Amino acid sequence: MTTAQENTIRPNVDPAELEKFSALASRWWDPESEFKPLHAINPLRLGWITDLVGTLEGKRIVDVGCGGGILAESMARNGAQVTGIDLAEKSLTVARLHGLESGVKVDYQAVSAEDLAAREPAGFDVVTCMEMLEHVPDPGSIIQACATLVKPGGWVFFSTLNRNPKSFLFAIVGAEYILRMLPKGTHSYESFIKPSELTAAARRAGLAVHELMGMQYNPLVDVYKLSPDTSVNYLVACRREA
Ligand code: SAH
Repeated sequence: MTTAQENTIRPNVDPAELEKFSALASRWWDPESEFKPLHAINPLRLGWITDLVGTLEGKRIVDVGCGGGILAESMARNGAQVTGIDLAEKSLTVARLHGLESGVKVDYQAVSAEDLAAREPAGFDVVTCMEMLEHVPDPGSIIQACATLVKPGGWVFFSTLNRNPKSFLFAIVGAEYILRMLPKGTHSYESFIKPSELTAAARRAGLAVHELMGMQYNPLVDVYKLSPDTSVNYLVACRREA
């Protein structure tokens, strides 16, 4: 486990990963861009989160690795008081500009999950960390930070990519090389995380795992749906022990 102090010396961030997202930053809100899949899955994940939490109205939420704010804005639109954090400054600039245009208020900050956790432990009712763990050197440290950020009894949501031959075929060969939905090199197989690894890290961080949910893509009809099949994309809902 990395301490906050070590973190300042050796931050839990891969500059090459941040650069990938910075290079695409202007396209965050173009629904036909490289970020099309995130726009397509957003209503599904928002609905799933809202059903589990009850209502987002008045909830204090931090979205870790918020990018251009696709999920953050949608939660704020539903009445939550949202903080969005990311370490790619360009993405935060795009997120802030989009907020001005849409009139949806989100507090965007360039701060690491670990540093915000040291500053605001138990500060949030809900923590979301979507499609981000597979881009950091030490996902366990992010999971620990999310557990520290949430209030006792509060919710923490993660989503990432499973690691197995099928996910290699679908998420890398299929999405990047055959369908070209994502730029080549978006994901590296070694950084994918098995549900058993994610849930073990969550438990170590003091989170109880509430639900595991799969997300399936059907390229023939270009439709995503929630599904019990967690073999490629999946989400995890956790609660901090009270
Ligand atoms: N969570 C958003 C964006 C996912 S893309 C969504 O699902 O819509 C992954 C994001 O993680 C990018 O915005 C990238 O800049 C961010 N990221 C990568 N490494 C990070 C780190 N160490 N700390 C914070 N954000 C990071």
